[in-house]
Amino acid sequence: MSLKIEEMKSKLITIAIDGHSSCGKSTMAKALAKRIGYAYIDTGAMYRAVTLYCLINGIIEGDEVNIKRLRRHMSNINITFQVNAEGVSETCLNGVNVEKLIRGMEVSNKVSIIAAIGLVRKAMVAQQQVMGQNKGIVMDGRDIGTVVFPNAELKVFVTASAQVRAERRFKELQNKGDTTTTFEQVLANVEERDLIDSTRKESPLRQAPDALLLDNSHMTIPEQDEWLYAKYIEVSGRK
Ligand code: C5P
Repeated sequence: MSLKIEEMKSKLITIAIDGHSSCGKSTMAKALAKRIGYAYIDTGAMYRAVTLYCLINGIIEGDEVNIKRLRRHMSNINITFQVNAEGVSETCLNGVNVEKLIRGMEVSNKVSIIAAIGLVRKAMVAQQQVMGQNKGIVMDGRDIGTVVFPNAELKVFVTASAQVRAERRFKELQNKGDTTTTFEQVLANVEERDLIDSTRKESPLRQAPDALLLDNSHMTIPEQDEWLYAKYIEVSGRK
């Protein structure tokens, strides 16, 4: 019996999915994790939760971040994930479910500023490395294949045109009942986050040299899910 468990453990791999904002990374990462029985970690949600904390506690005002205050507060920020009744993982900030709040435009507009701060990245990366230390994980973000798990067995870099990504994000917001945000605002936010994420000093968004590139501009969700599953089978050798 224990041999079988060992055998199963040895086949577990780490899957890193990076890419631009709103390109469907989390949709495909979540679907794969469910299909193969792996844990899924949305690292963007962690940066979003830190941003929400900063907004609530007056650490960010306008585009100005009070770094001294943030440093003092950093150890008070506890981010966890809780699985809801539908089996979907939701983000908690200091024990409070903030899943809905962190997806709004208020947080989206500031998250890339917070995620560019070295002390925030250091704390988040350390937590992510602990979460994935036993492998068997699908993690999505911007620096998973380059910084968090540079030795991940399967790395994917996902992209799509800014227009397509904004259209998808806009539809998603509308489906969630947001009637105030315009398409132009969503497109501007996607473009701004791309710029900040790829030009920041700390862990800029980059395709790792050994990451597979996936442009899903013209792919359906089932098509991208099958593409990713096929890559997983190839790399893990699991049938
Ligand atoms: O993935 P999502 O769009 O929710 O991420 C929100 C923001 O968090 C990104 O625009 C990026 O600025 C930041 N982020 C990051 N590193 C990660 C994940 C997200 O800098 N690993």
